[in-house]
Amino acid sequence: MTAATGLTGADLTGLLPTLRAFAIPMPVKFRGTTLRQGALLRGAAGWAEFSPFPEYGPRECARWLGCTLEAALLGWPAPARYSVPVNVTVPAVGPDKAHAIVAASGCRTAKVKVAEPGQPGSADVDRVEAVRDAIGPSGKVRVDANGGWDTDTAIGMLTALSRFGLEYAEQPCATLAELATVRRRVDVPVAADESIRRAEDPLAVRAAGAADIVVLKAQPLGGVRSALAVADACGLPVVVSSAIESSVGLAAGIALAAALPSLDYACGLATMSLLAGDVTADPLAASSGSLPVRPAIVDEAQLAKWEADPEPWRARMLAAAQYLA
Ligand SMILES: [Mg+2]
Repeated sequence: MTAATGLTGADLTGLLPTLRAFAIPMPVKFRGTTLRQGALLRGAAGWAEFSPFPEYGPRECARWLGCTLEAALLGWPAPARYSVPVNVTVPAVGPDKAHAIVAASGCRTAKVKVAEPGQPGSADVDRVEAVRDAIGPSGKVRVDANGGWDTDTAIGMLTALSRFGLEYAEQPCATLAELATVRRRVDVPVAADESIRRAEDPLAVRAAGAADIVVLKAQPLGGVRSALAVADACGLPVVVSSAIESSVGLAAGIALAAALPSLDYACGLATMSLLAGDVTADPLAASSGSLPVRPAIVDEAQLAKWEADPEPWRARMLAAAQYLA
């Protein structure tokens, strides 16, 4: 059972006749793949997505299923806001391209990928400098190393990059001990992202003194109510990010960002641009640096472009449901 909602695996049964599946290409490779796959269900509260990554087993998928059942059967808690500010993400491109991406985005916060394997630190400095120039002195610039630095490199790089005024550094190193060391040695706030995959992880992050900010995602944490409980228990400021879902799954992340009592940072939810298509005719795409707080409704003509065999998903959901008994 999901403690935050009272829903169990048995609640899946009545939804399975509505099961559909999608496979949407991604122009840029993510987690080693160029295809984002998932399932869709429709319940009394609306459409819901189930899209754990292919390597996840049933126990881990059960949390994602908790989010799916919540979306289909309960809907989401009342929002505290009706739009959610989002960041533009700048991949490990050259400075001219980085400048252009930020200038075209309309966002007031930019997240810059750093620590790309095979690139020198000077490439990170050039990219962050170009992004600061594009967004202006009043914009926010954060960097994301995806755990790619060791502590000495992180301390050296963040010290060098701090002259551009960093909002925070996301996952500069891989482990909690390394994050805690870096956090003590630099003035730039540290955010934990990859360190958080399960509901108990944010508490461990806080206990280790490893971060100032936690990045939370709705599906891996078992749904919006469950993630809200995690945020409350953890007590650190939250940035909500997506798991690169279709608009149906993204709506859960937006609902989480909308329901948080306070939201001090732009969220990583402007990810529809990473997919070649969507399952709705009205995608949850960012405009002028924010996303509207609303559900997404599946459009048959759009889904038809990306529809996939639902049978593997039926098996995967039923296996995951065993762990929500
Ligand atoms: Mg990240």
